Amino acid sequence: MNKGKIIILSAPSGTGKSTIIAELMKDADLNLGFSISATSRKPRGEERDGREYYFISQEEFKTRVDAGEFVEWEEVYPGTCYGTLASEVKRVTESGKNLIMDIDVKGGINVKSIYGSEALSIFILPPSLEQLETRLRGRGTDSEEKIAERLAKARYELSFADDYDVRVVNDNLAEAVAETKRIIKDFIDK
Ligand code: ADP
Ligand code: 5GP
Repeated sequence: MNKGKIIILSAPSGTGKSTIIAELMKDADLNLGFSISATSRKPRGEERDGREYYFISQEEFKTRVDAGEFVEWEEVYPGTCYGTLASEVKRVTESGKNLIMDIDVKGGINVKSIYGSEALSIFILPPSLEQLETRLRGRGTDSEEKIAERLAKARYELSFADDYDVRVVNDNLAEAVAETKRIIKDFIDK
């Protein structure tokens, strides 16, 4: 069986990346397997351990970094780490599926530099910072303090959009999903 390719999706928090990924996962033609990251943050809303993330403590995260278990990891927010486990990349790509990764901007650029032409990096842009704030509030999962932190970070993250292979604006959700599907299909059929 062919080894799967790697699709990297990055966007400022609240842009709609998880929503878009959920739609992409339903498309059997794309043959995607989600890379479940490890994080030291607590589950939000309906999130389940081993589905959206492997939720581990900061101590366990550090131990596993020291043991060399991560392909990449970042302290995305002060005191909160996220990382891609080598075992996840292996599990998904060796099953013949294309690995889809939801990772932060620095992680995305790192992974692209590791995997080169085997990986496609996609940056999802919000229509504007005002819209981003509305979405973060509308999601109703973050405190005011977290929303302010995420917005401040968004400004910085947006400056890396041009370092990605392609950019998609998530204004109309259905259109953004369709465009992202087209881009992924072209890449995996290459
Ligand atoms: P992310 O994974 O990028 O942090 P989410 O997928 O959780 O973002 O989306 C943030 C919020 O914005 C959610 O409440 C989601 O339903 C909403 N949302 C996503 N895409 C759109 C869109 N195109 N227009 C309006 N709201 C959207
Ligand atoms: P959230 O807390 O909203 O789920 O995610 C916060 C940020 O962490 C998002 O930008 C998300 O893409 C990023 N992230 C999730 N998993 C990983 C990972 O494995 N590595 C890196 N570098 N970032 C990640």
